[in-house]
Amino acid sequence: MDNADCTRSAIESLTGLSRPTVTERLRTLSAAGLIHKTNRRVASGGRPATVYEFQPRAYVSLCVDIGEVHTRVAIADLRNTIIEETVLDQRVSDGPQAVLATIIEAGRQLLASRAVKGDRLGGIGVGLPAPVDFATGRTVGWSIMSGWEGYEVREHLAAEFDVPVFVDNDVNLLTLAEHRLVWPEESHLMFIKAGTGIGSGFVVDGRINRGSLGAAGDIGHARIAGYGDPVCRCGNRGCLEALAGGWAMARELRLLQSGEYDGVMTARDVVSTVRRGAPEAMALIRDAGRILGEAVAFATSLLNPAVIVIGGELARAGDQLMAGVRELVYSRSLPLATKDLNISLSRLDESAGVIGAAFLVSDALLAPERLDRVLRATGPAAS
Ligand SMILES: [Zn+2]
Repeated sequence: MDNADCTRSAIESLTGLSRPTVTERLRTLSAAGLIHKTNRRVASGGRPATVYEFQPRAYVSLCVDIGEVHTRVAIADLRNTIIEETVLDQRVSDGPQAVLATIIEAGRQLLASRAVKGDRLGGIGVGLPAPVDFATGRTVGWSIMSGWEGYEVREHLAAEFDVPVFVDNDVNLLTLAEHRLVWPEESHLMFIKAGTGIGSGFVVDGRINRGSLGAAGDIGHARIAGYGDPVCRCGNRGCLEALAGGWAMARELRLLQSGEYDGVMTARDVVSTVRRGAPEAMALIRDAGRILGEAVAFATSLLNPAVIVIGGELARAGDQLMAGVRELVYSRSLPLATKDLNISLSRLDESAGVIGAAFLVSDALLAPERLDRVLRATGPAAS
């Protein structure tokens, strides 16, 4: 409603609240800086009316996307627009103490560069490349993140900044950003991140489904039969990501010992070789699309999404990857599951993770219950 002609009487009729209640709420929101009063002519014409406008920069969020080889830190406003961001060359394998210390320093610098006072930092959102117990903000289970098991990421950052901190799996944040920005009208969406590893996120009935322990969508280590049994970095054999993950494809190309692929180490390197038309790399990524399609087809039958979005570094290979995914999903799923199914490449760029983190914070901050707490803490005199 923030773009509408938001007058007091419009708010009264929309909410059904009494005039004194609306007046009191508007006063409190103004005092907290969340809305601004202005006089202008409304669309219905007539005399200029007092219109209330949402002030998205009343609070900012600190948004963090911790990746395997680098970390993105940003500040965003309450409309989830990135105000400033920076990319840190920090490997998640450096461990939580080192990684979080660098993030804290970068976050403070970003806030200082935009002269954001401490009381205008509304919260922190963090994405991690591991299953996360969303309720506690702790990593759970095994992961590629040695030293992070059970680490209290939320406590660590809350102790530094004294604001609410929300920690989630990185693919859930990509899913959230893609859903809200690109497919807001869809209630059932599946997002596949095909990068160094492979993960997925689900929107079910309009909400992110995290599963009982935060491991929902962790499909990278599901076994896919019929494509060989290469060893995975988890220690098992034949996992989805050991067959179709960026790291595994890079390994496969190096094993050719043709000399052409000696320096291919990452998902990005693999995509570069595909784009330059290297035949072995192109064959490999088409196979990867089909293998990924096996897993996606199964999930499609299980969850009946309206939209499947393929993102992550390997998605930059475009149709080379997508052809196999489409082929398998349509041939392995029942017609009802694929009727009206849309399979698309992600439309967001590398900032999607931090934007997802911004949504996490703004959703929580603007939820009626929490907003009440923010307003009470701010107090009417704190404008
Ligand atoms: Zn595995």
